[in-house]
Amino acid sequence: MANPLLKTDFYDVDGLFEEEELLARDEVRRWVRERFMPIVEHCYRDGEFPLERALELAKLGTFGANLHGYGCAGMSSTAYGLMMQELEWCDSGLRSFVSVQGALCMYPIYAFGSDAQKEKYLPGMAEGKILGCFGLTEPDFGSNPGGLLAKAEDRGSHYRLNGAKMWITSSPLAHFAIVWAKLDGKICGFIVEREREGFSTPVQDRKWSLRCSVTGEIVMQDVDIPKENLLPGAIGLKTALACLSQARYGIAYGAIGAAASCYETARDYTLSRIQFGKPLASFQLIQTKLANMLTEITKAQMLCWRLGRLKDVGKMDFAQVSMAKRNNVGRALEIARTARDMLGANGITDEYPVGRHMMNLETVNTYEGTYDIHGLILGERITGIQSYGG
Ligand SMILES: Cc1cc2nc3c(=O)[nH]c(=O)nc-3n(C[C@H](O)[C@H](O)[C@H](O)COP(=O)(O)OP(=O)(O)OC[C@H]3O[C@@H](n4cnc5c(N)ncnc54)[C@H](O)[C@@H]3O)c2cc1C
Repeated sequence: MANPLLKTDFYDVDGLFEEEELLARDEVRRWVRERFMPIVEHCYRDGEFPLERALELAKLGTFGANLHGYGCAGMSSTAYGLMMQELEWCDSGLRSFVSVQGALCMYPIYAFGSDAQKEKYLPGMAEGKILGCFGLTEPDFGSNPGGLLAKAEDRGSHYRLNGAKMWITSSPLAHFAIVWAKLDGKICGFIVEREREGFSTPVQDRKWSLRCSVTGEIVMQDVDIPKENLLPGAIGLKTALACLSQARYGIAYGAIGAAASCYETARDYTLSRIQFGKPLASFQLIQTKLANMLTEITKAQMLCWRLGRLKDVGKMDFAQVSMAKRNNVGRALEIARTARDMLGANGITDEYPVGRHMMNLETVNTYEGTYDIHGLILGERITGIQSYGG
């Protein structure tokens, strides 16, 4: 009988998904193995995202996969989550590229944009021909975006934007940014095209983590944009946070992929690596590590399955997303660190993916709300007391 521990889907969670959800996942799985795995280490070493793959990701339907109309795939949120899982099995930077395009740029236009904005941007974005980025974080405001300083001024015929954003995924590659700035003291979302005068996106390099993703600043010096570039429904911090909820949902699913890759690598490695005359996998300390990894992956799969079903019927709550993002990324990071250790010296080379996943997950644990901030969001839900406000 085959060793059941060799199955990463230990509880037959696949049995809970619809056939078309599994088909969508498997298509992304095939593509990732054929088209991204062969180049990922090279991209990571060079600190590049291979932009030529964007059109292929579009053909798979990954951009705005769970949005309807405008050329989007109109899949279930569960199918979308499973796609994110496959992308992150390969690399968190690859999944981040897709999350930013779909959940952080297409979603706000879809949910808060005018009909004209939807027609203008969404079909081209679904096709991967127009790329976006999402500028919320500033040099002095990360966990506390409510304090952001970027300013929009009503100049009668247009808005004038000033301010700086930092740590913005894909900003140096994007055709436009969704920028969050204060207009009359209220945080609002604006579409700012790259070619606007006074708009620039210097690259932030020298990263240890998420190297297969291009990160940059957004600098705005007296950038004038037409009035129709305001997203009419994106008024108030809550709307920016609603976009983050979409992205965090995908991250919760994605982290399972990174964790599974680490677990599978550690299992295969310890089964074949001989020390003290026996495979490493025959030692008790190694076996309990593998057991812990598989248990955490299985729990994360169950959380996401339920969260996806809640999202599909419009019942997903942001605090539930906080729980899944926090847990799944936190456990994935622990699994990656453990796998790195189990591979010994080989764990620090790029012959195996575990060191790369471990470094990536440090970012994933921090962005879109840190591990501790999500703990505080849950703490507020449990007690009714907000502990992190000013
Ligand atoms: C590679 C990368 C890509 C990113 N992409 C984007 C993007 O596309 N768009 C975007 O807008 N942002 C992006 N970010 C920014 C990211 O969302 C922020 O880094 C994150 O929100 C944390 O903010 P910070 O780095 O300013 O840390 P801080 O807010 O300064 O937090 C530092 C530490 O203090 C803790 N802390 C903060 N407040 C409290 C409190 N009240 N109680 C207890 N502990 C607290 C935090 O948990 C953390 O451990 C990206 C970041 C990275 C690294």
